[in-house]
Amino acid sequence: MATHKLLLLPGDGIGPEVMREVEKIVGWFRKRGVGFETETDLVGGSAYDAHKVSITDAAMARADAADAVLFGAVGGPKWDGVPYEVRPEAGLLRLRKELGLFANLRPAICYPALADASSLKREVVEGLDIVIVRELTGGVYFGEPKELVTLENGQQRAVDTQVYTTGEIERITRVAFDLAKKRRNKVSSSEKSNVMKTGVLWRQVVSRIHKAEFSDVALEHVLADNCAMQLVKNPKQFDVIVTDNLFGDILSDIAAMLTGSLGMLPSASLGAEDPQTGKRKALYEPVHGSAPDIAGRGLANPIAMIGSFGMALRYSFGLLDEADRLDKAIANVLAAGIRTKDIAGPGMNAVGTQDVGDAIVKELEALS
Ligand code: NAD
Repeated sequence: MATHKLLLLPGDGIGPEVMREVEKIVGWFRKRGVGFETETDLVGGSAYDAHKVSITDAAMARADAADAVLFGAVGGPKWDGVPYEVRPEAGLLRLRKELGLFANLRPAICYPALADASSLKREVVEGLDIVIVRELTGGVYFGEPKELVTLENGQQRAVDTQVYTTGEIERITRVAFDLAKKRRNKVSSSEKSNVMKTGVLWRQVVSRIHKAEFSDVALEHVLADNCAMQLVKNPKQFDVIVTDNLFGDILSDIAAMLTGSLGMLPSASLGAEDPQTGKRKALYEPVHGSAPDIAGRGLANPIAMIGSFGMALRYSFGLLDEADRLDKAIANVLAAGIRTKDIAGPGMNAVGTQDVGDAIVKELEALS
């Protein structure tokens, strides 16, 4: 039996609360014969309190050795005054950098039971299931020169540089096409080739990789501004959207809001494929933060964290049946009206974090 090594980094605030619910799900799959080996370590403010760093070298080594890292959330007002280099977020940035996580996958799924929580009409979002693949380590957030200078005439000038190389575009393109092959077989590539040189190169490289390696997958090119418009007009036309760091940041937030609550949004960050094993380094985390306003009160919605584990089942371990079953269990629990306060409808009694985790385990049992 294959053993999947998971490193759990619960972090701060509601991180540990939602991670506990994932541990219940891991335990359930383990009892059903799926081999999971888990280790737990500190990250963020909790690591700072114990070790005066936001993640230790030992935890980094464990992350490097794991098949997948499950990350809760970090930060909170308690650590507002700590030195910049060891602030809680630095732990996450170190993980992303040292594990080489260049592809950020953010699904936007609208469960029928929650369609009314979206700001768009039910018929536009009900049953939505798309993924945005965002390039995470290049582009205008990292390009040099990046500076703010004062000119001789007293004016200031700010410069950010949008830069991409062929290799950076090729590897993110392959992630998007590989993903589409496991879904509905369509990729929409988004850039601004009408006004940006990086957009011209992006479009050329995506087209070349498509022709040479993925001609069985449908490809369309959509200018980023039009893509934003189409996402709110008719989001169900998309399957996988691949785009750069800046446009991905914006488009994934638009897509997120189609689905309702922050407590529902999982994500994955993937690294390069190991040529020998075919495995990728991977970190799975909810999109939300540590929610200090509700931490410690059992109010947090654990579905974003549980959904992140579902993505690990699918993308790191190839356990597609198990991932489908977990998705179905979540959908059934929502449809039964078992919901935390953030997604409870009018007149509905909200339940706590643990109740949702327990209900999902019960539903998994019922589905098997
Ligand atoms: P947040 O996501 O923590 O919270 C925003 C709002 O959404 C809050 O009202 C919160 O109660 C609610 N919320 C978030 N997750 C929820 C859940 N699972 N269930 C129910 N309600 C939920 O963002 P913020 O308030 O801007 O930031 C709080 C702290 O988290 C800050 O220190 C910030 O730096 C940090 N943060 C960390 C990450 C991360 O670890 N990746 C991401 C974003 C923010």
